[in-house]
Amino acid sequence: MSRIAILVPGKIHERVLERLKDRFEIITVTREEKLGLDDETAARIRGVAVSGAFPGAWMDQLPGVEVIASFGVGYDGMDVKRAAEKGIVVTNTPDVLNDEVADTAIGLLLNTIRELPRAEAWLRAGNWKRGTAYPLSRFSLKGRHVGLYGLGRIGLEIAKRLEPFKVKISYHTRSRHADAPYDYYSSLSGLAEAVDTLIAIVPKTPQTHKTIDADILASLGPNGILVNVGRGWTVDEEALSAALASGALGAAGLDVFYQEPTVPATLLEPANAVLLPHVASASVPTRNAMADLVADNLIAWFEKGSALTPVPETPQKA
Ligand code: NDP
Repeated sequence: MSRIAILVPGKIHERVLERLKDRFEIITVTREEKLGLDDETAARIRGVAVSGAFPGAWMDQLPGVEVIASFGVGYDGMDVKRAAEKGIVVTNTPDVLNDEVADTAIGLLLNTIRELPRAEAWLRAGNWKRGTAYPLSRFSLKGRHVGLYGLGRIGLEIAKRLEPFKVKISYHTRSRHADAPYDYYSSLSGLAEAVDTLIAIVPKTPQTHKTIDADILASLGPNGILVNVGRGWTVDEEALSAALASGALGAAGLDVFYQEPTVPATLLEPANAVLLPHVASASVPTRNAMADLVADNLIAWFEKGSALTPVPETPQKA
């Protein structure tokens, strides 16, 4: 009996292929505007494993596709509307990366506030000599009021990690999370007025576009810290560059950028920014767990009839 055909467009974690190759026929293609498949092959494809964007036009090329397993928890590059119209189930990889991303957020927060990467660079450059000392960091985490923009799976883990630091914690989401023991603000501007430290962990949606703008940054103020581990889409990078350069904002720690992998020179210049190349979930154990969940979603769909972690926008087959 011929095996079920799974399409893998572009690169994906090696472990996904390793897990799938004995059960399925794997068809790989490079990422092009149109998938490079003949009609007969396209018609045989019933599942997809993908890391990154998957446009609706590709779905249109695959008449028999039932399930698309996406690597990562954010699926803003996936045309879920088209998938839902076509009855295709889309899965993502939630929860298995919560701890890693929350740990990274805390590390980035501390590095930004205490200038630890700059202090290390100073030491490595041979500046530490008898009679010299790295300048005192301007800021401290002590006594801060931290606002979380987003309190979902990852935001909640960040909040829990912040508690032992004895900071005050508040949050803004579209609706109050009744179980959360933190002060709720119904607007981002209200939250930014109240806090001196903002951590963004919201998805890329039309509603979150450049919501962290000049006004929000001005509210955080010269003592203010911004950390973004969600999506670069959420920040007006021009306004952020200006605020960092002028001192209107104290400092920023960024793991994500508007147009990755391009980082604007205006963000590379200011010394009061700590910049990471989108590594919040990027450890071997966590990426392995994400790869396993991609594979397990496809296996569960074809062997048990339902996926493990479908996204809310697409239907689960009865
Ligand atoms: P969840 O869906 O669990 O949480 C999202 C949170 O954002 C919820 O609290 C939601 O609350 C809030 N939210 C959504 N839209 C808005 C809005 N318009 N205004 C205010 N709040 C909003 O997602 P996760 O916690 O699992 O992940 C969050 C995002 O983090 C991902 O979508 C991804 O983009 C990013 N991410 C980045 C990583 C990295 O490597 N840097 C790694 C992993 C994730 P409510 O619904 O009540 O508004």
